[in-house]
Amino acid sequence: MKRFLLQLGACLALPLSAASLPAAAQSAPPAAEVRTPVTILVSIDGFRADYLDRGITPNLSALAAQGISASMHPAFPSKTFPNHWTLVTGKVPDHHGIVANRFEDPARPGEVFTMASDDPFWWNAAEPIWVTAEKAGIRTATMFWPGSNVAWGGHHVKKPWAEDVGGMRASDWQQYNQAVTPVQRVAAVIDWLRRPAATRPRLVTLYFDQVDTAGHRYGPVDPHTDAAIADADSDIGLLVSQLRELGQPANLVIVADHGMAATSSERTIALDKVADPKLYELGDTGPFATITPVKDKEAMVAAALLKPHDHMQCWRRQDIPARLRYGSNPRIAPYFCLAETGWGIAATAPTKVESGGSHGFDNAAPEMAALFVAAGPAIRPAGKLPAFDNVDVAPLLRDLLALPQASDGDGDDAPFRPLLTTK
Ligand SMILES: [Zn+2]
Repeated sequence: MKRFLLQLGACLALPLSAASLPAAAQSAPPAAEVRTPVTILVSIDGFRADYLDRGITPNLSALAAQGISASMHPAFPSKTFPNHWTLVTGKVPDHHGIVANRFEDPARPGEVFTMASDDPFWWNAAEPIWVTAEKAGIRTATMFWPGSNVAWGGHHVKKPWAEDVGGMRASDWQQYNQAVTPVQRVAAVIDWLRRPAATRPRLVTLYFDQVDTAGHRYGPVDPHTDAAIADADSDIGLLVSQLRELGQPANLVIVADHGMAATSSERTIALDKVADPKLYELGDTGPFATITPVKDKEAMVAAALLKPHDHMQCWRRQDIPARLRYGSNPRIAPYFCLAETGWGIAATAPTKVESGGSHGFDNAAPEMAALFVAAGPAIRPAGKLPAFDNVDVAPLLRDLLALPQASDGDGDDAPFRPLLTTK
């Protein structure tokens, strides 16, 4: 009854207030459209968590002050493709199947997954958030994201060229091209949001690569890397100001896939000095090495690898420590060696002195910690949160989109639940 009276009161009040308006205001055009908030997931590849403390990121720091921020643990291994797929699926690499940037699958002998692989076969074990959203009637758009060019859930046929059969992508997506500048990427997102409501996306991804590129080349502590960090920050500033100009409210979730550790060729473990290269096939090298013994040589490989080493530890796949949540997927090579953070594993000793940066190390190492900043109308300002795992980001996105939580996810929305106005 009280509610009815309030509504009645509002109805009665309206003609009175309209009557009291000046004539010009009465003939004004209808009020601007009230836009529904869009959720924008932004990745700044290789943006280490503590880059935010360098005093060179006014836009990101302002968003952190308006919303929430944290030093986020990447999934293991702390590589680009496994972590980007974790961020949008809520599963660790062991479960979503993108176990490294380069790997093989016993079900497809002779084939190798690389960062150019778009055959759904490699990706189908875990559904990305844009597919979940599209299935729920929420329009999505991806301005680059690893895996966003894949016809998810479909399969490739070869005749003799590869062609997709079935599968889903975002309603709008772009084939990755590093030559598309960050400003062009922001412009594409804003253009999508200029559309009429019926064709406007409600979930958008956006990806920037420049901080990772500089970090690899120059290392995490270098003026060139600082310049790339400042550039990425100004791209975020551009996005924020253009959203404001458009009158488009947005819940921004800005993340990195991993951090960056300083490396040097002088900190290299030469694998040929550890085990005779004729005994094994070497897959990945760098912060970790993946090793498959050749036929009948496994005992010799095990004897050479499974003993203590300086700056490196090796395990059989199934014996990788449980805290890394890695080792049950058949795509992981039978032997896995992890370098101490800042070291590298190579087939042979390097011939020239080089330094730079790398990632792929233990995901608990502070150097691997990744950026997390989120702000928007659905997020209460709460400052810096305790560290959490990046498997929790997909559950946050589900909350922001009012999608139910997955029953088989590896993370949950616990770090954010009390901070959301939608809960
Ligand atoms: Zn990366």
